[in-house]
Amino acid sequence: MKIKFLGGCDEIGRSAILIDDKIVMDYGLRPSDPPAVPVGSITPKSVIVSHAHLDHSGMVPSLTHAHGNSAPNVYVTSVTGDLTRLLGRDTIKVGKDQGFSFFNEEDIIKMSEHTRNVDYGERIALNSSDYGADYEFELFNAGHIPGSSSIHLKNENEAISLLYTGDIKMGETRLMETASVEEFPSSDILLLESTYYGRDHQDRKEQEREFVDSIKETLNAGGTAIVPCFAVGRTQEIVMILHSYGLTPYVDGMGLSVFRMFKNHPRFLKDAEELNNAFGDAMFVSARKRKKAVSQPSVIVTTAGMLNGGPVLYYLKKVHDDPKSKVLLTGYQIEGTNGRRLVEEGCVETNGEVVKVNTGVEQYDFSAHAGDRELKELVSRFCGNGTEVVFPVHGEHTEEFAAWINDNFECDAISPKIGEEFIIE
Ligand SMILES: [Zn+2]
Repeated sequence: MKIKFLGGCDEIGRSAILIDDKIVMDYGLRPSDPPAVPVGSITPKSVIVSHAHLDHSGMVPSLTHAHGNSAPNVYVTSVTGDLTRLLGRDTIKVGKDQGFSFFNEEDIIKMSEHTRNVDYGERIALNSSDYGADYEFELFNAGHIPGSSSIHLKNENEAISLLYTGDIKMGETRLMETASVEEFPSSDILLLESTYYGRDHQDRKEQEREFVDSIKETLNAGGTAIVPCFAVGRTQEIVMILHSYGLTPYVDGMGLSVFRMFKNHPRFLKDAEELNNAFGDAMFVSARKRKKAVSQPSVIVTTAGMLNGGPVLYYLKKVHDDPKSKVLLTGYQIEGTNGRRLVEEGCVETNGEVVKVNTGVEQYDFSAHAGDRELKELVSRFCGNGTEVVFPVHGEHTEEFAAWINDNFECDAISPKIGEEFIIE
């Protein structure tokens, strides 16, 4: 089996892994300025998308663009398919503002025609007449966001298999059931996300209480609490948390459209009714009503989660000089983002202007990724079950992770570099 890494190796963003030149798992986009995309140009027969976050699914429509009429088949869970189209359309819009273009509306329509919905546990065969070998793959709940999957792929002719975790979360959240790792089949090769290698998560309930207490404090002091969130997953999780503590937020940005999509796919949610109730009480903000939302003590849940664009920049500009107000970041801020800059330098950049932020800035960890302990447990489970090669990917410390695996287990761990190719027999 030939594995070529096209992005998302020792970085978070633009994940893309090409198997035997025919099947690509994820084809993402790092929404930096300018956006980063997978290296090389490929013409796969199939795309299997682990989940609908931009860094995993953002560039899938571009594969249709490159292919003309012989577009690749796109295999996704139903909710991932809907979200991939929604995000694709948003990327076209953002590109018009920022001056980039990777695909157009026609490509999204064509991608949609070539999309095949797959259920967890359904086995899909890809035949040798098209692929040069017989493959079979199966998706498992990855616990990360609704519809997220870990992918088990087998080359039947070579009798070799791999498991690609995608982004994975063990441990329940309000939105999601934990990943079904117990059901994961053993595999010869493990491709493992490693966002949180070296860091464990704080107890979730404790974290929730600190977060809510801090928001209440801000409101009592007459300030505005700004909570930047990803549209897909995090916004819904945070609105559910706030609702359960009796807080009614304003919600701004694409998180509302995403909620409506989740609503159409209740079986991918832990508690669809809870989510509906939480959003039923929230107040939605259109561009015209932003002024009102920020004119009184309020809590505003808004995109983008790492402050690279979106309505959050409007709110930040409004309150940046108000020490009573607060920015409560809800997850990890990757290198090169405004969020990281806010944490490290106390400022953000918007439209070429650097804005000093004098509000409080706090960082919380409502991560939808496995922590260090869970990642290591997963490696241990696989290596104890016959896995021979492990590739830690999707992290800033993949080399250290590979070294740790090599020190502790018999399997061979490699931290791949972008553009590198491996043949595993
Ligand atoms: Zn993700």
